[in-house]
Amino acid sequence: MLRQLVVAATATTALSALTGCGAFSDSSATDDGRLTVVAGLYPLQWVAQQVAGDRVQVEDLTQPGQEPHDLELSPKETGDVAAADLVVYEKGLQAAVDQAVKQTAGGTALDVGPVAGLEPLDHGGHDDVTHHPGQTQDEEAEESAKDLGDLDPHFWQDPLKLAKVGDAVAEALAKIDAPHATAYHANAEALRTKLEKLDHEYAAGLAHCQRDVIVVSHNAFGYLWRYGIDVEPIAGLSPDAEPTPADLGRLQQLIKKDGITTVFGERLVPASLSKTLADDAGVTTAVLDPIEGLTDATTDDDYLSLMRDNLAALTKANGCQ
Ligand SMILES: [Zn+2]
Repeated sequence: MLRQLVVAATATTALSALTGCGAFSDSSATDDGRLTVVAGLYPLQWVAQQVAGDRVQVEDLTQPGQEPHDLELSPKETGDVAAADLVVYEKGLQAAVDQAVKQTAGGTALDVGPVAGLEPLDHGGHDDVTHHPGQTQDEEAEESAKDLGDLDPHFWQDPLKLAKVGDAVAEALAKIDAPHATAYHANAEALRTKLEKLDHEYAAGLAHCQRDVIVVSHNAFGYLWRYGIDVEPIAGLSPDAEPTPADLGRLQQLIKKDGITTVFGERLVPASLSKTLADDAGVTTAVLDPIEGLTDATTDDDYLSLMRDNLAALTKANGCQ
């Protein structure tokens, strides 16, 4: 008990020094004296948990089954952001979290975008010949332009970018809780090993495929460009965006032209659009999980198992050997 109190007190002192916030109270520590980390959405929570271990309590602001793009925070959750020792979030992705961080965060706030190295939506080699965004996608782009410019927020589809976030979380925790710095860095190193293995699996699994285009419901898979995947989204960056009939007609033609076998939907949004498109084009549907959050169907999964499920779905759809 004494040891826990000392840890909490040390952390509070360190944070006060870090943020220059004199009014900082010890409410940041949990009842059992553990530090608290609050994460904006599941991939960030998962990384924080991997790095923090049992020493720290990690909370995900996006509840299972919730769509993180349009997250709203309860007063309790806003209070959790205010009291957290560390907030791990992606600026520009979740307006409610941005606002809570700006107005109330008393601890350290780690914006993972610059850490991961966000890339433009149009990932260079993207073949844009068949891509004529409809009105909705323009609106969507404008929406995201306010915060992220033309940057794609879904960086966790690239395991190596997530590893960078792990290193940064370790760095932040080491500053807040110096006595356990070695453990945090060791955990981040172990996490990096797992993520590099996953990256190798993706590179090998997608190296020899009959097709490289995938049709997905929302534009959350752009970072798969590193593995040669070219993404055609039905909707825009957010799952709420509605495609026009012209968008759907264009995608139908693409499916025929490229011999695409599968239209990918996801678990957190209704499958009606991808199902309609697939039925009209006479192809099948399958799930490709953007891994923005867990659902009732994936409570036993984690980032690694969901990424491996996605890889299996991709290799099947695109005829990879
Ligand atoms: Zn998304």
